[in-house]
Amino acid sequence: MDKPNLKDHKQLGQELELFFTHDYAPGAPFWLPKGMVIFKELEKYIRELTENAGYLETSTPIMVNSVIFKESGHWIKFGEHNMYNLELSDDESDKHPESYTLKPMNCPESTILYRFRPRTYKELPLRLSELGRLHRREKSGEVNGLLRVRQLTMDDAHIFARESQIFEEVSNILDMMITFYKNFGFEYEFRFATRPEQRAGTDEMWDKAEKDLEEVLKKKGIKAGNKKGDGAFYGPKIDLHIKDALGREWQLATVQLDFHMPSKNAFDLKYVNEKGEFEKPVMIHRAIFGSFERFIGILTEHLQGAFPLWLSPVQVMILPITDEQNSYGEKLLGEFRKENIRTELDARSERLQAKIRDATLQKAPFLCIIGKREVENKTISVRTREGKDLGTLKISEFLNKLKQEIDKKI
Ligand code: ZN
Repeated sequence: MDKPNLKDHKQLGQELELFFTHDYAPGAPFWLPKGMVIFKELEKYIRELTENAGYLETSTPIMVNSVIFKESGHWIKFGEHNMYNLELSDDESDKHPESYTLKPMNCPESTILYRFRPRTYKELPLRLSELGRLHRREKSGEVNGLLRVRQLTMDDAHIFARESQIFEEVSNILDMMITFYKNFGFEYEFRFATRPEQRAGTDEMWDKAEKDLEEVLKKKGIKAGNKKGDGAFYGPKIDLHIKDALGREWQLATVQLDFHMPSKNAFDLKYVNEKGEFEKPVMIHRAIFGSFERFIGILTEHLQGAFPLWLSPVQVMILPITDEQNSYGEKLLGEFRKENIRTELDARSERLQAKIRDATLQKAPFLCIIGKREVENKTISVRTREGKDLGTLKISEFLNKLKQEIDKKI
């Protein structure tokens, strides 16, 4: 971290008990219960967004026969050195064991789902999403907390569509990205990445795919910076970059248009059109977070652990002024938890100032202070982690306020 007084996500992850890494598994985080709350809330959010947009969730195997990456072209592009490959055999004397790979991406296997049975035009666009766990062979010196990992969880999706559906599908994906990143208050920019030197597919396919994406950007009035030659090996892409609180830029979301994988040279995908003839679908790859791990790492540093209410592992901390109010505190704890508010009670015999300091360090968005008067009137005194005094509130009033803010994802 080059700015003073700011902590990096590894330190915050330990202090707030969210996640950590261990020498026994370099590049793969251990998630503690509080970090898992954030992970699960983000999962819930992305599922809501995708289900509302007509995606169907799927899951494909983590360990898969390496031959699929030869068919897709990943083997040539990434080589065996960037993937985890295992030789598996039922018999130890087997001289030619089968080679399996821990998948570094979901794309090839999503075509197996597509080919499960014949498809017709009526099913398209077929939007298959997957929260897939991937493995990529990063060198141990290059792994860095959650920002560069060997094991990652991608909010992936593959859309199989007709050519006439490309505009609407890509356009909707860009809208989803904008909704998502605006909600987190990130500054963002789009970048258009064109054909790389090493690529699959014909020039004709690339001309068409690049033109299609350019047209979406133009019609939507989106100004995108250029990343010439930085497309995926199977197609051009539009990436979303964000700027974090430290002014660093990160590439997170992506949408990629692919004529290669459905082609005869790869998976030879088909569907039957209105006339009963075979046509080829296009494949659109997209991710909104990129990876949960990296997104949570960046968010943790960007917010310095002060997550919005809906994501906070502890949303409300109850602080009795003296031990006499502990039983009222217990009662409130039960009531709040019954309403699914993540609540904790600090029943230690510490001075109130110390309790406030600790709750603030834990970044709980709301502190409920209860003294004699609050017990008598069945109320609470509420202040925010920023130190703003919200005065004395009735329990129902406070719960309504919380629920509204959680629903709005403030
Ligand atoms: Zn893909």
